[in-house]
Amino acid sequence: MSRPILPGATVGVLGSGQLGRMFALAARRMGYRVHTFSPGDDTPMGQVADREAVGDYTDLAAVAEFASRVDAVTFEFENVPHEAAATAAEHVPVRPAGRVLHIAQHRQREKDFLAGAGFPTAPFEHVPDRATLDGAIARLGTPCVLKTAGFGYDGKGQAVIDTPSEADAAWAAIGAGEAVLEGFVDFEREISVVAARGCDGAFAHYGVTENRHRDHILDVSIPDPDIDPAIADEAVAIARGVLEALDVVGVLCVEFFLGRDGTLRVNELAPRPHNSGHFSFDACVTSQFEQQLRAVCALPLGDPRRLRPSAMVNLLGDLWAAGTPKWWHALSDPAVKLHLYGKAEPRPGRKMGHLVAFGDNGEDAARRAIAAREALAVDAGD
Ligand code: AMP
Repeated sequence: MSRPILPGATVGVLGSGQLGRMFALAARRMGYRVHTFSPGDDTPMGQVADREAVGDYTDLAAVAEFASRVDAVTFEFENVPHEAAATAAEHVPVRPAGRVLHIAQHRQREKDFLAGAGFPTAPFEHVPDRATLDGAIARLGTPCVLKTAGFGYDGKGQAVIDTPSEADAAWAAIGAGEAVLEGFVDFEREISVVAARGCDGAFAHYGVTENRHRDHILDVSIPDPDIDPAIADEAVAIARGVLEALDVVGVLCVEFFLGRDGTLRVNELAPRPHNSGHFSFDACVTSQFEQQLRAVCALPLGDPRRLRPSAMVNLLGDLWAAGTPKWWHALSDPAVKLHLYGKAEPRPGRKMGHLVAFGDNGEDAARRAIAAREALAVDAGD
């Protein structure tokens, strides 16, 4: 069994966004030091870390120097080149292992892994170049969705193809690079399971969360939605199977489409805490961030149970269009918790923070969270 890395030690994180920030807050609370490595400075995580190392992920000498000053390395962003994880692993344990990162950061490798291991996905075709696209469309039929193989997130690098004549436009829209074509799934809802696996193989999960998107970006997450318990159990079983098949040590989120016929299909894997698990920071005995810390440090996993029904809404940069949001208005509901990530520039579509609200049940909590977000736009003079 792996030796535990105890409080007082230093955990290094590749990446420096809000996921790293919340990880750092959880780690500091337990007496750890945290270092971050990314190309940015004054980053969401850097603002709360003991050390903010600034460097390019491809500068392997800088990654090695970073790793040599910490006791373990994890990541909060899967688009870190896997060579960086491999370099860090020459110095300290990297959890989850670089192999997990390598699979999850590339849609084709991810789909091949899922299909090869028998997990359900939408039908898909590998599209290495423009010449292969027409045949792939003919085999899958329309509508279908063309997605870049690498470095896509929040619906970026995607194009829906409704008729074969749209192939050229779709190919151009995704940047004319290696891609995956997927059959269009007529889903009833999108759900996810955030789960953790320890060094000893222990498993903990946050159950099913329903995720509602707006413009392909997560808008509202409601844990424990009203779905058939057998489907919820199946989603958790698939998540467990994925973590075990990948030998994950850390946190991983499995996103699913739930079809109108009750079938589950895995859409994506994220080998780190996930936006749909943010509610856990306020609402659970052990948050997804503390769970990541515990797994990375070879400690026992904590109890993931929810203490109260809750829901989360994202706060995007668009909310700043008419000036600074009216925080006081949102917080006038005492059941609402505000999280801001310390980002200076509120660009449209940029995740700036989120609200978690509590309620009598998930829908009630979601209603309160949405009402609080709407109150942010209300003029103080109203
Ligand atoms: P992704 O970046 O793959 O998570 O896709 C972003 C969003 O696009 C998803 O959350 C869905 O709402 C939608 N989407 C992606 N792939 C498909 C698909 N094959 N069928 C239907 N909708 C999709």
